Amino acid sequence: MRSSEFLITTHKETPADAEIISHRLMLRAGLIRKLSSGLYTWMPLGLKVLRKVERVVREEMDAAGALELAMSMVQPAELWQESGRWEQYGPELLRIQDRHNRDFCLGPTHEEVITDIVRNEISSYKQLPLNLYQIQNKVRDEIRPRFGIMRAREFLMKDAYSFHSDQASLEDTYQIMHRAYSTIFERLGLDFRPVMADSGSIGGNTSHEFHVLADSGEDAIAFSDSSDYAANIERAETLDQSDQRPQASIALGKTPTPGVKTIADLCAALNIQAQHTVKTLIVEAAEGGLVALVLRGDHELNTIKAEKHPLVASPLRMATEEEATSACGAGFGSIGPVGLSIAIVADYAAAACADFYCGANSPEEHYEGANWDRDISSYERADLRSVVTGDPSPDGQGTLQIRRGIEVGHIFQLGTKYSEAMNAKVLDENGRNVTISMGCYGIGVSRIVASAIEQNHDERGIIWPGAMAPFQLAIVPLNMHKSAAVAEAAEALHAQCLEQGIEVLMDDRNERPGVKFADMELLGIPHRVVIGDRSLAEGEVEYQGRRDSEAQRVALADALNFVT
Ligand code: ATP
Ligand code: MG
Ligand code: MG
Ligand code: MG
Repeated sequence: MRSSEFLITTHKETPADAEIISHRLMLRAGLIRKLSSGLYTWMPLGLKVLRKVERVVREEMDAAGALELAMSMVQPAELWQESGRWEQYGPELLRIQDRHNRDFCLGPTHEEVITDIVRNEISSYKQLPLNLYQIQNKVRDEIRPRFGIMRAREFLMKDAYSFHSDQASLEDTYQIMHRAYSTIFERLGLDFRPVMADSGSIGGNTSHEFHVLADSGEDAIAFSDSSDYAANIERAETLDQSDQRPQASIALGKTPTPGVKTIADLCAALNIQAQHTVKTLIVEAAEGGLVALVLRGDHELNTIKAEKHPLVASPLRMATEEEATSACGAGFGSIGPVGLSIAIVADYAAAACADFYCGANSPEEHYEGANWDRDISSYERADLRSVVTGDPSPDGQGTLQIRRGIEVGHIFQLGTKYSEAMNAKVLDENGRNVTISMGCYGIGVSRIVASAIEQNHDERGIIWPGAMAPFQLAIVPLNMHKSAAVAEAAEALHAQCLEQGIEVLMDDRNERPGVKFADMELLGIPHRVVIGDRSLAEGEVEYQGRRDSEAQRVALADALNFVT
């Protein structure tokens, strides 16, 4: 590829509104251009990088036995009503109407559509397990789009969904996908950590997130310095207290509330519209049916609303601090990772009044008489966390490190959450109907591009990991338009690259050397060969790796040895 035939739109200035380095460099290098808040155009150069990431993801999904399909981005409301998420998902779901006033949404994720496919096409356990994936633009009306394509409103995701006739098969595929994810991030040259995650209000059982380590990351993760223990901060805190606190699903079995078996049930029963703001929801019951609801949110917590439900509106007795503490375990005063936490303790058995017991992170910050429909944004924030660097690791091995991370992947064992709601069943080997078990597996393909830059850059620009580089080699001929010898050598090297399948960008623009060097460095091309009259006279060129501090003279004939 010749620069003169490509589109290079670099900028010297640092864009004012870009807060983090990847956003700044993506704009300066001309990889993306902003269309509107959270909406971007991928320029030819950026798209090359995106496609590289996509290819690695696709290869590993295929190797893991997943089958690619393509679903419509536009999804009918009926399916979302069936799963209950038309109501639950909140304003992040971008809803549209067609000319007949029928409701649709632009897919933020595809559990409903894929479950609909599978319930129609699959009837026997013999057709399972099945793992289907697509790589497609997703739309989420993020409350605060920021950091460029890192948190965009339209972004490229790989989403996979697996289907099983039993839990053991789901666990097998989950392990295969866990490994495939690690392989993907290794191939892409990223420093990452898989961490245990809370499946929270999404329901389901086991869940892991994959985080690229970076100080600009929006999430915090905790991991042991001397074992494999790693969890996102919400999960780490839950485990922190696990010796004292029953797991939600077990505990709920003891509640006197009929029909409430899962966190999702309880949310539904209490009519909590947690929307996208709640990070973690822990529900527990101690002896005597005392239920504690702990909602953990971040700065957006003030949008949490729970409407009064007969269950809560009926008279409830105010819990004492002692009861609150015993219901939540010793950790009542130590919840809430990044902001205000709210705990509600409701004594269903006594059913006394509509007020809740509500607390932030420290004993002095408990409020009495809080109602769900009151504006809780006025409550002061407690920016404390219960897990700190140096804490003993919950597995007893080593101490915890806390680092910032960027969530680039997320895998879930969903169980029967969607298949039950949407009646997706197969016949098992005894001819009985069984509800299909599901897993879902997401990768933020476009977010990976920004994450890679967060980890790989210097003051001159991007330094692409090899697997992601738009071009492997930059050929920079000096004075090409005046020197026939340089032009000839550059053309020959360029042709040789094409022949050998080396992705090359020859900067044949009529620009000063300084401009060309600066651009090639900003673009992050891993290898550079400079061809000039002086060295060429001795049959040599200058080679410099993007991370090298200096160039070295090499024989023209050996120039490509560095690249392959
Ligand atoms: P986040 O916590 O960052 O909002 P999420 O947990 O809502 O992400 P998932 O539903 O798990 O996201 O989606 C799978 C993957 O899609 C995420 O791990 C992330 O890499 C990517 N992703 C999610 N939202 C965005 C976004 N707004 N822009 C770019 N990538 C995103
Ligand atoms: Mg999100
Ligand atoms: Mg997340
Ligand atoms: Mg996630």
